[in-house]
Amino acid sequence: MCDTCGSERILKVFGKCSDLCVLQFNESEKEGYVASDCGIGGGDDIDFDLCLECGKVQGEFPLPDPEFSQEDEDDFLFDEDLTGEKFDILDNEGTGC
Ligand SMILES: [Zn+2]
Repeated sequence: MCDTCGSERILKVFGKCSDLCVLQFNESEKEGYVASDCGIGGGDDIDFDLCLECGKVQGEFPLPDPEFSQEDEDDFLFDEDLTGEKFDILDNEGTGC
């Protein structure tokens, strides 16, 4: 039964796409295994229930931004931070002695 409209018209979707899944979210794109934090399954499988009455994918929503969409930004910022820290440490050591 649909968790939004109560309809019994639920389509169960299951697809074993393994690592051939392509996901897009805003500017980010992920190719590979199914992301497990998007409410559509995970790993090898696309697996979700769709209400044919209201179009709601069954499950807990809203979900946070998918992890893959944050990885690029985080890595970029992280690298910048690390570089900055390394330079700071070098500077401090240099002036300390
Ligand atoms: Zn529904």
